[in-house]
Amino acid sequence: MNLLYKSTRSADRKVTASEAILKGLAEDGGLFVPESVPKLDVSMEDLKNRSYQETAYAVMKQFLTDFTEEELKHCISSAYDDKFDTEVIAPLVKVGDTYHLELFHGATIAFKDMALSILPHLLTTAAKKNNVTKEIVILAATSGDTGKAALAGFADVPGTKIIVFYPKGGVSRVQELQMITQKGDNTAVVAIHGNFDNAQSGVKALFEDKELEKRLDGAGYQFSSANSINIGRLVPQVAYYVYAYAKLLENGEIEDGEEINVAVPTGNFGNILAAYYAKQMGVPIAKLICASNENKVLFDFFRTGVYDRNRDFILTSSPSMDILISSNLERLIYTVAGQDSGKNAELMRQLKEKGTYEITPDMKEKLADFVGGFATEEETREAIHDTYERTGYVMDTHTAVASYVCADYRKRSGDSRKCLVVSTASPYKFARSVMTAIDPGYEGMDELALIDELHKVSGMAVPAAIEEIRKADIRHTRECDADRMEETVREILGV
Ligand SMILES: *Cc1c(COP(=O)(O)O)cnc(C)c1O
Repeated sequence: MNLLYKSTRSADRKVTASEAILKGLAEDGGLFVPESVPKLDVSMEDLKNRSYQETAYAVMKQFLTDFTEEELKHCISSAYDDKFDTEVIAPLVKVGDTYHLELFHGATIAFKDMALSILPHLLTTAAKKNNVTKEIVILAATSGDTGKAALAGFADVPGTKIIVFYPKGGVSRVQELQMITQKGDNTAVVAIHGNFDNAQSGVKALFEDKELEKRLDGAGYQFSSANSINIGRLVPQVAYYVYAYAKLLENGEIEDGEEINVAVPTGNFGNILAAYYAKQMGVPIAKLICASNENKVLFDFFRTGVYDRNRDFILTSSPSMDILISSNLERLIYTVAGQDSGKNAELMRQLKEKGTYEITPDMKEKLADFVGGFATEEETREAIHDTYERTGYVMDTHTAVASYVCADYRKRSGDSRKCLVVSTASPYKFARSVMTAIDPGYEGMDELALIDELHKVSGMAVPAAIEEIRKADIRHTRECDADRMEETVREILGV
C-alpha cells in the first residue's frame, strides 16, 4: 500500500514520501504529515534480536513506501556504519532506576546524527526517483546540534550545497567550533545576530519566498530542509523508540506488552513527536514526558492549552532546547484537531500574528498522553551532580533536564512504570556546564582543559569529534543580521 503525505495547512494535494522529503516544507507553509501513522507489521518478540539497522528498516519501510527495499536498505547501511563509535548504534544503559537511551554515538555526538546521517542518502535517492536535475541547496537553522550534524552529513555530497545559520553567542563553544571548522567545498556557515527563533523563522521565510525561488530556479538550484520540519528527519527517529523497547524486552527488563514511559528533552518537538508516532505504530508507550528547560512554553501549553511565545528568550546551559516556537508541535496540533487543516492553519496564523493561540477543550483532551515538565538551571545542575554522586554516570545538560523531569513526575504522580530517558548529547559537548555542575571548583578552567577533567571523572573515551576540533582550522567566519538572511544566501550562491 502506498502511504501518501499531505500538508498540515491544506487538504487539496497529496505527495509521495520521496516528494515530501525533497520539498521539506509544503508550499502553503505547512508541514508534511502521513495520511495515517502506519502500524508495525512485526511483533516486538520478532524484533528483539534484531540489529539497529534491521529495526530501522522494519520501521522506515512502513513510512517511506515509494522507496524500494534495495534503496532503503542501502540508505540505512550507508548511514548506520562505523561513523558511530558503537556497533549497537543506540546503546541502552541502566542508570539507577531508569534506562538511558544513548543517542550520541554518531559523528557529531548529539542525537541529531540519528536522522542526519541518513537524510542525505534519503534525499539523493528521492532526487533520482523524481528526476530532479537541479542542485539541492539545504538550508538549516540550528540551535547548535542540527547544524553540525547536517554539515557532516551533506559535506561533499554531489548535487548538494548546504547553508547553516546559528545564533551568535547562543551555542556552546564546542558546538560553535564544530561548525566553523567544517570541511567540504559545498558547505557554508553563518552566525546571525539574533536567537534560534529568528534563525528558524528566517529560514522558513526563505522557503516561502516565491521571488527567490524563481531566481534559484534560473540558476539551477532548489531548496530543501534539514530541519526536523522535514519528514525525512522524523521517520528515522521513530526507529530508536522501537529498538529501545525491543532491547528492554530482550534484556528481560520488561514483559512483552508492558507499558513504559519515555522522557524526552524537548526543543523543536521533533524527537518527542517521533515517540508519539512510535506509540501509534504499536509500541506500548504510556506517557510521553515532554521535558523543557526554563524556556517552558511547552510545559505551559500542556497545562493550560494556551501556546504563548510572548516571553523572554532565556539562554540556558541546554542551548539546543532554547526555543520558543516549537515547529513540530504543528503536526500534533493538526492531529488533535482531527486532521482539520483549516483549523490548524488558523491557529498557526494566530501564532505568527499574535504569538499565541488557544486550543479547544476537545483538542486538549486528546493530549492526555503527554505530560509537560521543566527543570530550572539549578535543578539541571542538581540532576547532573546527584546522578554522578549516586551512580558515577555523567550526563549532559539536555539529558539532565529530562532526567530531572522524569524523576519529578514519578514522585508527584506515583506512576511507577519503567522510564526511558532519551539521552541526546555527549557530556563532552557541554563540558563546562557538566563539570561545574559536578564541582563548582572547575569554574576557572578553559573548555579544552575541562574535557580532560571530564575524561578523568567519567572514564568515557574522548570522542573523535572532540579530538578533531582541537587541531582543526577555522574555515567559516561569515556573520549577518537576522533580517539579512536572504541577501546572505544570494551572496553565497551567487544569484
Ligand atoms: C535538538 C536537541 C534537543 C531537542 O530536540 P527536538 O527534537 O528539537 O525537540 C535536545 N537535546 C539536544 C542535545 C539536541 O541537540
